[in-house]
Amino acid sequence: MSAVPVRVPLTRLDNADPALMAELLGAVERVVTAAAFILGEEVEAFEREFAEYCRVPHAIGVSSGTDALALTLRALGVGPRDEVIVPANSFIATAEAVSLVGATPRLVDVDPCSQLITAHIVERNLTPRTRCVIAVHLYGRTVDLDPIVELANDAGVPVVEDACQAHGAIYSGRRAGSIGNAGCFSFYPAKNLGAWGDGGAVVTHDPELADRVRLLRSHGERPRYEHRICGTTARLDALQAAILRVKLGRLEHWNAARRRLGEQLRAALEDAPVKLPAAVPGQRDHVFHQFVVRARNRDGLRAHLAAAGISTGVHYPVPIHLSDAYAHLGMGRGSLPVAERLAQTVCSLPMFPSMSGDDVAAVARAVTGWRRDEQRAA
Ligand SMILES: *Cc1c(COP(=O)(O)O)cnc(C)c1O
Repeated sequence: MSAVPVRVPLTRLDNADPALMAELLGAVERVVTAAAFILGEEVEAFEREFAEYCRVPHAIGVSSGTDALALTLRALGVGPRDEVIVPANSFIATAEAVSLVGATPRLVDVDPCSQLITAHIVERNLTPRTRCVIAVHLYGRTVDLDPIVELANDAGVPVVEDACQAHGAIYSGRRAGSIGNAGCFSFYPAKNLGAWGDGGAVVTHDPELADRVRLLRSHGERPRYEHRICGTTARLDALQAAILRVKLGRLEHWNAARRRLGEQLRAALEDAPVKLPAAVPGQRDHVFHQFVVRARNRDGLRAHLAAAGISTGVHYPVPIHLSDAYAHLGMGRGSLPVAERLAQTVCSLPMFPSMSGDDVAAVARAVTGWRRDEQRAA
């Protein structure tokens, strides 16, 4: 069978936008001409602008979302023998960051409706060894954080937001990442705010935490060749900072497009044989990093859409506790039923800010036309 040409891709990156490309290449040229590749003005300017955008006093540019999480945990003093509560329904990096600092992820199930961690779930999983809770705003939908922060505060446990899929999302009038003790971001190219390679940031209200992350990302160095603590190489590149500064200016506009497209897709798919993302209650937000539907025969749906030229993805096919990397935790099949069911049934449909009305219509037509005998949602 010959491959069907792609009519609607899963996402579209900067190379599809010539005006943006020209601006970004100009920013790259500025850095290269000055040969200022490590930290310096571009990184400092991006940190100021991103902190202002997130409405926090401190932002630290780092090398990836994974490092943002790991450096934050190190700065919080999380280490061996500690447990960190992590939802099993996330990208594996959330758990890996915990392992990187020598602690143990306590992988927990998620709410079947929001597919996110809740205060109730956190409460059931607090142990005397719990040293941190990581709340993941998965797909761009904000976690209901206030009750989690309250519960964690009472237990003396910090809350870290994994906002790697939720740049700019609003929760009760505040930005994702600005609500817990720290917020961690990834600028992997396909994220809502993406660089031309790897990058990340930590944002926080806490000046001491900010200072420790800043030291850790660059060999604990201050001033030059004075190493106060044992750190690492985990800086944001100046080239990436220059690119991110240009794109940060468009993030509000892009997120508004994602929200609008999310509602358009939801309306267009009303009669489709799939389960749609839950409605977004007031005071919450969803910046649709992914538009994720569910179907019992997910693989059948994907094959049908591929034949119609509609690209899809699966985020994620294996819940973290069932991955080989975490087999040593000894959590068998059936231990986290909601996350396991989601891994079998989720399907990400195309979602990107420049999606056209025709793109939305083509996706809706293909999904709605899926076989009648599949018309029983997961
Ligand atoms: C992308 C992502 C990460 C990791 O970010 P990298 O920059 O790839 O290291 C962590 N958590 C979530 C939820 C992500 O989507």
